[in-house]
Amino acid sequence: MDRRQFIGLSASAALVAGLTSCGVRPKAVETHCGGPMKLRFYPYELQLAHTFTVSSYSRKTTPDVQVEIEYDGITGYGEASMPPYLGHTVESVCSFLSKVDLSGFRSPFLLEDIMEYLDSLSPGDSPAKAAIDIALHDLTGKLMGEPLFRIWGYNPDKSGPTTFTIGIDTPEIVRQKTEECAGLYRILKVKVGLDSDEQMINTIRSVTDLPIAVDANQGWKDRSKALDEIHWLKEKGVVLVEQPLPVDRLDDTAWLTERSPLPIVADESIQRLKDLPRIKGAFSGINIKLMKCTGLLEARKMIAYARAEGMMVMLGCMTETSCACTAAAHLSPAADFCDIDGNLLITNDLFSGMKVRDGLMVLPDSPGLGLTRL
Ligand code: MG
Repeated sequence: MDRRQFIGLSASAALVAGLTSCGVRPKAVETHCGGPMKLRFYPYELQLAHTFTVSSYSRKTTPDVQVEIEYDGITGYGEASMPPYLGHTVESVCSFLSKVDLSGFRSPFLLEDIMEYLDSLSPGDSPAKAAIDIALHDLTGKLMGEPLFRIWGYNPDKSGPTTFTIGIDTPEIVRQKTEECAGLYRILKVKVGLDSDEQMINTIRSVTDLPIAVDANQGWKDRSKALDEIHWLKEKGVVLVEQPLPVDRLDDTAWLTERSPLPIVADESIQRLKDLPRIKGAFSGINIKLMKCTGLLEARKMIAYARAEGMMVMLGCMTETSCACTAAAHLSPAADFCDIDGNLLITNDLFSGMKVRDGLMVLPDSPGLGLTRL
């Protein structure tokens, strides 16, 4: 490790040690500023409106790191969100970002080269890479003076609805959450995968007949029981099932997908483009999340591959600010199904961007991501 790397790592460690529990934005660390682009980052802990429970854990906060890349007096915003199941931490993200040296790149438009360079630094660290990818896309859109969806040729009127997610909880809380959101959304996403599945669905059905997507988060273990449950769910107005079985049960998933009356979408089973050949045929579609796949550049390649294989495209998100959610939303006209509600689940958003009106996503029309800093 050279001196510059050591200083960068020490600074990020100090930042991480003293950071965000107070909720105040700490001073950003600036790394390797020799070239025309300046990279800055700072941790920012996301506060959830409700304790969020899926089949494997519960949480009230989510660790997050905000990234800024400045070029020619213009700043692009990016973000790394680290829900616990992916194994990334504020420390690992800051450590990776401290290593990133953009001084060898003359322009933020060299997206392919920069993302290839980031992959050369480590095989993992997808959220940190996504943060840089998102900031570069915001920056290049601003430099071109156009929103990303327009640069890509997407029709913003085709953004469509987003689901709103209801975590696993007591019937009283599930009823209350459903009552709060039923009039605001056109489709709900419900976490299942525990013994309470039937109770969860029946509780929601006592409030609303909105269509429901369910996410088992690998929580079902028996393929025959899973198939029975999917038939029951279909009768209850469920339209899609996400990650029913554990990641290592690909053959059983293929068996289930072949027989299922509902589409089966991969989430934990698919991270990046290179995973797609392995899982095609076992699922009806894929859930693309920027934090898993290193950002917008790779997400667009995954959409193209999935389309070529006749697979459904779902866009998801983590608990995130409007920065990363808006980035994902710019891809929404190219997707079949969107679950981009992470910014709606937190109480300390840093940006205003994509909005949900009458259940439909509305993309901002200003350049880049189109964010306004709050
Ligand atoms: Mg999921």
